[in-house]
Amino acid sequence: MTSSIVIDIDAQNEPYWTGLREGCLKFQACSCGHTWLPARALCPACLGHAWQWKDACGNGVIKSWVVYHVAYHPEFKDRLPYNVAIVKLQEGPQLITNIVAPHSQLHIGAKVRFKATEDAEQPLAIFELLEDQPVPPEQEQNQLPRLSASN
Ligand SMILES: [Zn+2]
Repeated sequence: MTSSIVIDIDAQNEPYWTGLREGCLKFQACSCGHTWLPARALCPACLGHAWQWKDACGNGVIKSWVVYHVAYHPEFKDRLPYNVAIVKLQEGPQLITNIVAPHSQLHIGAKVRFKATEDAEQPLAIFELLEDQPVPPEQEQNQLPRLSASN
């Protein structure tokens, strides 16, 4: 099935997407020590040009996550419920992604590992939990009420 979502690849972000197609997660690293994603022309910390693309080792941790129960784009209707997570890579950059795991196993600080995949013939960076990691008890106690659409 052809996706109606098309990645906007330009000269700035092309190395990221080419890397993903080759199974490698790339990020930008500046001579000042700052690292980041997504692609930018200038370092967001020092506004310098002295940066280069580097290969991530693939390890990271979940910084935050949510489970969507409403499809805000028709393309995602058949995927509900699905999670959207912010993962911080070991090298420092953060990216918005999806964790391939039961939602009950997701928690802040969970160790995850990058996996290159394709979705509707487009490269995609997703993450898997490194191992079975118990959910911290405070997360179970602080479950937020599930949001639902009003219509
Ligand atoms: Zn910099």
